[in-house]
Amino acid sequence: MTFQLANIAGRAALVSGADYYDLAEASKNTLGPDPMAAVARFEELHAIDLNGLKRTGSVEDVTLDAPVPRPKNCFGIGLNYRSHVTEASMEVPTTPVVFTKFPSCISAPNSDVEVVGAAIDYEAELVVVIGKGGRSIAAKDAWSHVAGLTAGQDISDRELQFAANPPHFDLGKSRDTYGPIGPFLVSTDSFANPDDIALECRVNGEVRQSATTAQLIFDVPFLVEYLSGILTLSPGDLIFTGTPEGVGITTGGLLKPDDVIETTIAGIGTLKNRCVQS
Ligand code: ZN
Repeated sequence: MTFQLANIAGRAALVSGADYYDLAEASKNTLGPDPMAAVARFEELHAIDLNGLKRTGSVEDVTLDAPVPRPKNCFGIGLNYRSHVTEASMEVPTTPVVFTKFPSCISAPNSDVEVVGAAIDYEAELVVVIGKGGRSIAAKDAWSHVAGLTAGQDISDRELQFAANPPHFDLGKSRDTYGPIGPFLVSTDSFANPDDIALECRVNGEVRQSATTAQLIFDVPFLVEYLSGILTLSPGDLIFTGTPEGVGITTGGLLKPDDVIETTIAGIGTLKNRCVQS
């Protein structure tokens, strides 16, 4: 069975259509309420049948928190779409370009983004959520270690990112509020092909980015094998898989206060983030 996992006021919930079901109630207290613990037991989420259960409430009546609020590790992959490599006037990487988004930047799906300075940018990305950790995970086994997928914004302060030499991507991408994810963690079996998922970013309604994850240079199985060959992955670890062309730094569309960023990933949903003066 497929599932969609949400975080509502710090409690894990399963979502079906417009309704949500508190996970602790739906599982008769065998799972939940901690969203991080729920991710680690994702295999059991597949077995929960919501048919016949009483819903806890309607999703539109609540404020969603980040579905994975406290990852141990949060990786970002740079230059992982050829179209973005080209617009950045960089060379196509032969090894994944990996940086950290410090977990403290992770924020709710519809939270505000603080505009600090004149070079704040958006990056729509598919985010992989590790469910079963481990070391040296082979690419062919990688998807079985993934709890599910969510949408993410790798908000980037370009001035800060390139303030040092060599650049410190980590800091430029980790200001508070710079990691909205959500709205739900969607199980991998919900997708016809989890290696080919459409993503789009709109700013004030204008389409800025549109691509599919089939265009990733280093795909999800490769990234899981690569990262787990170096360090132990843990349940709840996040991998922001990279962004396609159309970012503000190259198109002249950097973010300013009152802009509204909408990030849509097919089969997952939409993040809606308002930019506010910091
Ligand atoms: Zn990125």
